[in-house]
Amino acid sequence: MSLGLGDPVSAIRGVGASGERTLRAAGVATLADLLWHLPHRYEDRSNPRAIRTLAALDGAVTVSGRLVQLVERRARNRRLRIVEAVLDDGTGPLPVVWFNQPYLTSALRPGSRVWLHGPVRPARSGWGVQLVGPEWEVEDEDAEPVHLGRIVPMYRKLGTLSGRRVRTLVARALGALGPVGDPLAERLPAGLELPGLGDALRCVHFPDPPAGETALASLFEQLASRRTAAHRRLAFEELLALAVVLERERARRRRQRVAACRITEEIRASARRVLPFSLTDAQRRALGEIVADLQRGYPMARLLQGDVGSGKTIVAALAALVVLASGRQVALLAPTELLAQQHYLTLRRLLQPTPFAPELLIGSLPAAQKRRVRQGLEEGSAHLVVGTHALIEDAVVFGRLGLAIVDEQHRFGVAQRQAMLEKGEAPHLLVMTATPIPRSLALSLYGDLDVSVIDEMPPGRRAVRTVLRDDSARPRLAEFLRKEVAAGGQAYWVVPLVEESEKISARAIATHVRAVRQALAGVRVEAVHGRTPPEEREAVMAAFSAGEIGVLCATTVIEVGVDVPNASVMVIENAERFGLAQLHQLRGRVGRGRRRSFCVLLTGADCSEEARRRLEVIAATSDGFRIAEEDFRQRGPGELTGLRQWGRPEFVVASLWVHRRELEAARALAAEAGRRGELDALAKLGSGPGGVGPVVPAG
Ligand code: ADP
Ligand code: MG
Repeated sequence: MSLGLGDPVSAIRGVGASGERTLRAAGVATLADLLWHLPHRYEDRSNPRAIRTLAALDGAVTVSGRLVQLVERRARNRRLRIVEAVLDDGTGPLPVVWFNQPYLTSALRPGSRVWLHGPVRPARSGWGVQLVGPEWEVEDEDAEPVHLGRIVPMYRKLGTLSGRRVRTLVARALGALGPVGDPLAERLPAGLELPGLGDALRCVHFPDPPAGETALASLFEQLASRRTAAHRRLAFEELLALAVVLERERARRRRQRVAACRITEEIRASARRVLPFSLTDAQRRALGEIVADLQRGYPMARLLQGDVGSGKTIVAALAALVVLASGRQVALLAPTELLAQQHYLTLRRLLQPTPFAPELLIGSLPAAQKRRVRQGLEEGSAHLVVGTHALIEDAVVFGRLGLAIVDEQHRFGVAQRQAMLEKGEAPHLLVMTATPIPRSLALSLYGDLDVSVIDEMPPGRRAVRTVLRDDSARPRLAEFLRKEVAAGGQAYWVVPLVEESEKISARAIATHVRAVRQALAGVRVEAVHGRTPPEEREAVMAAFSAGEIGVLCATTVIEVGVDVPNASVMVIENAERFGLAQLHQLRGRVGRGRRRSFCVLLTGADCSEEARRRLEVIAATSDGFRIAEEDFRQRGPGELTGLRQWGRPEFVVASLWVHRRELEAARALAAEAGRRGELDALAKLGSGPGGVGPVVPAG
């Protein structure tokens, strides 16, 4: 009788009560669970080597032949038990030795044909070679080999079960598995050539050997990068689950009702009064999309994406104005206190000609002040608030929150975005990100959002000239900075500092400032870091904005959002310690005004060749999108990946980067189902990890 994916693991031959308990404890209850425990790598043990050709430096080899001898002996004076054997494959005899595996004398028999795989070592006799502690498998006339003589899957342990034991169980499960129902078969996207579920589950564990050496090499490349058809099919299952979650979120939001904003002539007039410059076409388009959303009867959920310096703030401010004018509150969430303070000042200035004034709510404010702001928000007398995480604390209650804006969304998680939304009854949501992330990632992180893109820089911007320099360039750099400041420019000088403690950062920054002051006699040099008290930070930033400070030494607190258009030079110490996207963000602090701008990447003495090449990518392009892709390629998806953000388990096989085509296809399928109101039906067709049937709990 054949088994099905939903059968319990106890149905597998050799899994008794204790095996079942062990597997269950490891989260494996059914055949499907077991088969979703995928190999983490594969070894090619398909071609046995001729014994005659073995040499002591060969490393691990696979051989096959007949055991012509098998004895156990005890090492003298030691408790070591040794099994010795000789294998003959017709080209010569090969001594084999196992330590402390006495059961082998009963598992193996002289005369039987076996496969062995293990390291070759010089023989003890001094003549020739021997095989030490190899994996073994007895040849079976009627069955394919499992552990040897093929491309062999390597597994991580499941509880106390060894990788080899897992392999045995997987092979038995697959052997006993009947035809696998494939509910998604009809819906698989045509262009991707995805195999059926049953085939995928088989091949992902035991890939079919290809014909020819080059085919073998390319198969191994695909296996390693999880790009085989089987891997892609299983990834599709997982990505579809994600796509359904996102689509459901979108549908849920559309069912909510809010009062539509009306755009009156009065609002138009005050918008014109607020605008310090005319918008770029891209800004105008984005604003148009946002305002159209605000006029609908359900809450907006929109991502405003635009490279560093493209001018997202003013667009957000105008959106805020529309909501404020309709009598509802607006909250702007920023990832750092520094940025919150800056936004607060910007909005205060911008909104001067309107009846609305912003409040600031950040953790480091005196308690009494925070209390006052919170009270204003609750009573509704405060219209607009700018703040950090302090905004999403429980103590913060809004009277009638109409719009939540999240700046630099990539610094937050979905959970924080969600917490902000829960502060109101179905408020509009506008999230902004300056990190242009690869489309595939955008789809998963912001897949429940509509997207507006600002793909144009404000007029008059010139590319920031970026150079790589080492220590020897310091005297010339100092000279250059003195001249630049004398000519009316300003500079940031960033140090890579983990802001672990107040003391350490204060001291490290102080040392840095002293060195810079010494090098730049006559120039006013000040510093900010994450632990600078808020009043001092505000004073320093205000002085820098006003052009009173020549060089501002800083940690990465200035990485996001800081906007001082007159700043023209960005110096980055130990640039090799930063990620590419981070460097791009930092560089984005200059080149914001009409001044010709520079970015100097200083490399430390221990900067590797590889790190230099990375930095050259930054020097060569100012295209944030390309940099983000490169960063992503180099560092991998990091913690940004999909399902966990949505409170779902992490992917087993899917990678948002590797399987981006599958992701897009899954998204298209889910979106189509969403339009037809068939999301729940689609979810039921999934066969992702965790068993057969719906992977996505009913929404
Ligand atoms: P980001 O998109 O990185 O948040 P900002 O909103 O901080 O960018 O804008 C960067 C700078 O460009 C600011 O100094 C802002 O005043 C200026 N700016 C924005 N839009 C325009 C425009 N249309 N014309 C001129 N300057 C602009
Ligand atoms: Mg910004």
